[in-house]
Amino acid sequence: MEDLYSNNKHLSFSCNNKGINLMRKYEVSFESFLENFKKSVSKLGYKNSIQKDYILKILYFSDEHLSAEQIVNISKSLYKIDMGIATVYRTIKFLESMSIVNSLDVGDSAKRYELDISIHHDHMICTNCHKIIEFVDDLIEEQQINVVKKHKFMLKDHIMTIYGLCEDCQ
Ligand SMILES: [Zn+2]
Ligand SMILES: [Zn+2]
Repeated sequence: MEDLYSNNKHLSFSCNNKGINLMRKYEVSFESFLENFKKSVSKLGYKNSIQKDYILKILYFSDEHLSAEQIVNISKSLYKIDMGIATVYRTIKFLESMSIVNSLDVGDSAKRYELDISIHHDHMICTNCHKIIEFVDDLIEEQQINVVKKHKFMLKDHIMTIYGLCEDCQ
């Protein structure tokens, strides 16, 4: 079995979104992220599992937002680990409940997932080819803070997803 901590086998996907690599920067290394995660899992009285570890690793090193099926395939091809799709869904549900994983509805039957520990970004989703483009716009971020203030609301988090057609599909 592949050592969980060996980073030499980075996932390589075709990535048609040039901005994504620059933006997907984590403030923590995978090792310390996983260590903290495992601590909070045990602290909350849940069980740690190899499945959780590998799903996190796959999501951490992926340049794409992945479906559960893709996660199953990658764990098999890259790490020689057989994970059933039901296990992946169950684990992802748990990770979502811990606010560690985000799901994105791209308009086909399979949700796509990403780790929620990368720097904040919003998404544009093509409703035709289901491509996901990540972006950050300082003005939009600022304006949201202003709107929230106006309503005497306390901002904790926001999700913005713009649906439309990508350049290739117009
Ligand atoms: Zn498209
Ligand atoms: Zn994203």
